[in-house]
Amino acid sequence: MRFVDRTTSTIIENNTSRHTQLVRNYKQFPGQNKFFCGGRFMTSREYWAFILALILLIAPSVLFGIFTCPFIWEKVHPAIPIVFAYLFVLSLTSMIKTSWTDPGIIPRDLDPFPVLERYEDPGSPYSDSTWHHGIPIQKEVRIKDRSWTLRYCDTCRIYRPPRASHCRQCDNCVEVEDHHCIWLNNCIGVRNYRPFILAIVCIILLLMVGGLTLYHCSLILRGITTHEQLRASVMTKHSDLSANPYNKGNPVLNMTYVLCRPRPKSYLRRRKYSPAVN
Ligand SMILES: [Zn+2]
Ligand SMILES: [Zn+2]
Repeated sequence: MRFVDRTTSTIIENNTSRHTQLVRNYKQFPGQNKFFCGGRFMTSREYWAFILALILLIAPSVLFGIFTCPFIWEKVHPAIPIVFAYLFVLSLTSMIKTSWTDPGIIPRDLDPFPVLERYEDPGSPYSDSTWHHGIPIQKEVRIKDRSWTLRYCDTCRIYRPPRASHCRQCDNCVEVEDHHCIWLNNCIGVRNYRPFILAIVCIILLLMVGGLTLYHCSLILRGITTHEQLRASVMTKHSDLSANPYNKGNPVLNMTYVLCRPRPKSYLRRRKYSPAVN
């Protein structure tokens, strides 16, 4: 008779009295990574910078979406908030994918018994110990008429393939490792380089769209509207904006006036009653 205890993943075979302990591989992973959702996702150990990066992306984007996008949707074009939302979702998912994906970690112990360099010690007084064993020998491979030296990683006990490096933070050898990104809390390697690049491009585009926010901030500080700015710069090139009667003459007062003034009541009285129009 054979049954599986799912809580401990233990297979118990009664007829042979043989107990085989099965543990998921991620629970025995020797590197410094952290796993969650049953090993489906993984990241490195220092996640505070990643949380900070998420806050730096999400907080201004949400504020931009709440306070600026309605204005742009109505006064400029709905396409801008739609593109902004698309870039925001793409940035967020790319960041999470880069951070929570295996970057290309090379399994350990693929070459546990390397050939060691032998060197002679002519000054040794013992005739049988003049030859010593040192570090593992290096291997040479040829790729497109170029010679590559494969170095041995003592931690992972493998010969590192070309372009692989050992990450000290994660304590793994990673295939085609670009660098370890503290902001995404993961190595950037062969398996997550694409979402990493996509995240960078999206964030740059987000900043360009978010530049509209800075533009509106400058308008607020100068106490003018977009129409007044356009009229001044396009219709009358040398118009004097300081003559604007709504300019308080001080950027702080202008900002306080726009952001802190009480909201006026609607003129429409939408829920009141009035005679029907024939
Ligand atoms: Zn290594
Ligand atoms: Zn790393």
